Amino acid sequence: MTTPTYPSTQLLIDGQWCDAADGRTLAVMNPSTGTEVGRVAHAGIADLDRALAATQKGFATWRATPAIERAKLMRAAAALVRERVDAIAAVMTQEQGKPLAEAKAEALSAADIIEWFADEGRRIYGRLVPPRNMAVQQQVLKEPVGPVAAFTPWNFPINQVVRKVCAALSTGCSIIVKAPEETPASPSALIKAFVDAGVPAGVIGLVYGNPAEISGYLIPHPVIRKITFTGSTPVGKQLAAMAGQHMKRVTMELGGHAPVIVAEDADIAQAVKAAGAAKFRNAGQVCIAPTRFLVQNSIREAFVKALVAQTQALKVGDGLTQGTTMGPLANPRRLTAMQQFTEDAVKQGAKVVAGGERIGSSGNFFAPTVLTEVPLTAKVFNDEPFGPMAAVRGFDTLDEAIAESNRLPYGLAGYAYSQSIKTIHQLAQRVEVGMLWVNQPAMPVPEMPFGGVKDSGYGSEGGPEALEAYIVTKTVSINCG
Ligand code: NAD
Repeated sequence: MTTPTYPSTQLLIDGQWCDAADGRTLAVMNPSTGTEVGRVAHAGIADLDRALAATQKGFATWRATPAIERAKLMRAAAALVRERVDAIAAVMTQEQGKPLAEAKAEALSAADIIEWFADEGRRIYGRLVPPRNMAVQQQVLKEPVGPVAAFTPWNFPINQVVRKVCAALSTGCSIIVKAPEETPASPSALIKAFVDAGVPAGVIGLVYGNPAEISGYLIPHPVIRKITFTGSTPVGKQLAAMAGQHMKRVTMELGGHAPVIVAEDADIAQAVKAAGAAKFRNAGQVCIAPTRFLVQNSIREAFVKALVAQTQALKVGDGLTQGTTMGPLANPRRLTAMQQFTEDAVKQGAKVVAGGERIGSSGNFFAPTVLTEVPLTAKVFNDEPFGPMAAVRGFDTLDEAIAESNRLPYGLAGYAYSQSIKTIHQLAQRVEVGMLWVNQPAMPVPEMPFGGVKDSGYGSEGGPEALEAYIVTKTVSINCG
């Protein structure tokens, strides 16, 4: 295996790729080897001030660009992402750890997302409202909210950025992205596609640095009109509170703890194939990953046996190695978390039926894990595991499974497996989630809403709702008499 090259990452300010004004950089680590693979520029306040001035200028240019021209540039960016997919995927795998095939799928899905938003941006219609006086014309105008500040995490370095950039660009907003310091080069490659496609200077800015310092500076700043964040619920609450103090619009895509309800009439093979595969994609570091497996007691043993077999067939290794189906955890913090979740569950009576421990001593590898007989008090059944860990519990009645699904403050994704239309209907009505996938794995597509309820956040990153969050409504009433 020849290791592909890995670039160091600069800031993008006013259309120019540049180092931080004071030259500061941070190390980027390869989670498969635990060694430094490159550096990323660390912005300071002087850089943020330049980015803010540029985004204000970029907004003036972009809002005055016809929607059809914006769509053409976005489509050109999508074409560049497709053209560069192999190089982008290799960079992502080196900084984030996921297998090359998953990295490639993420980049290709970004191109699909860009194209959908490009088209949807051409369908932002206002309306004319019949007046009470025929000399008056009543217009409802839809306008871009203004420059956006976006904060994105390391689990899907491209996907988390592309949805925000596209919602902004398709509605005529400019955007400054604070992308993840741990996985900086693949989001930079995504944004480079927009720059190379001809998106004007200042429309997209890209910074890295100290997340709290950057959010603390950008959110209250008068130039910024909207905040969008993906990450943990505690940080999301802090940022939403800050945005509220400054009357800024927000979209918050936060943590989840997805219930997987497997009813006794489910196709077990289908349920294991779908939920099991989704569980270990990206080593479980997915906000919509199945996490609380609730299996009807009459089929629990058969389900667990099949899930364990599928889990043990996973090939854990460096994402660049052919055949790897699960990579390392993205950072050592998650490794520690997995160890703590396992210890706590076992102490409380759970059984480890697959995995349960770190693999090797270099890189952040943790064995794909299945825990059974997990008590409701175990940490893993309460805090988002965000790792390769399936926790299984039995249930007797559907009411019991629904009550457990809704017990936690999270409400992002949910899964259900059943052949009964009656059961499915009940679950669709009663499970408190933003997205429910039935008899299939998660299939987030840009044309469908993507977002959560309760502590999982608010707003959507898909469907027409994703654009609405970047649009303000203006009433204009003209007396033409
Ligand atoms: P964390 O809460 O420290 O950080 C999560 C993300 O928020 C990171 O990208 C970080 O850079 C950013 N962040 C943190 N403080 C910030 C601030 N003050 N201003 C702006 N951005 C800030 O946790 P972590 O260790 O990086 O990740 C672990 C937890 O985060 C997971 O358990 C999971 O719950 C959550 N997470 C969720 C998603 C998601 O897709 N919803 C993605 C990544 C992490």
